[in-house]
Amino acid sequence: MQNKITNDSAEQAPFEWLTVYSAADAIEANIVKGLLLNSSIECQLLGESLQGAVGEIPLDQTQVRVQVFAIKERQARQILVNYTQVKQSAPDWVCPNCNEHNGPTFEICWSCRALQND
Ligand SMILES: [Zn+2]
Repeated sequence: MQNKITNDSAEQAPFEWLTVYSAADAIEANIVKGLLLNSSIECQLLGESLQGAVGEIPLDQTQVRVQVFAIKERQARQILVNYTQVKQSAPDWVCPNCNEHNGPTFEICWSCRALQND
């Protein structure tokens, strides 16, 4: 006996995972995840496991998708609009300690954890 739960295609399932953001890498994906969790929006990351092979995959090929439940999609997108606006208005910065490039949403270097304004 099979009694599968099927999603009616005519109606969006409220607990279906939808991708709301494609992050450049796992670091950014976790920032976005943090923003969503701060607003009590449950989320999951897809593709993060690729980051396991450090040094094997170029950073630009390790895109991580951030997904939320369909019922939270609108709320999540509003948060992400704010996030992407901040991101685009601020330039990357170079760590004074190790010369690593950091995204504008970081306050400390992801590599050596030096403060941006040191
Ligand atoms: Zn650094």
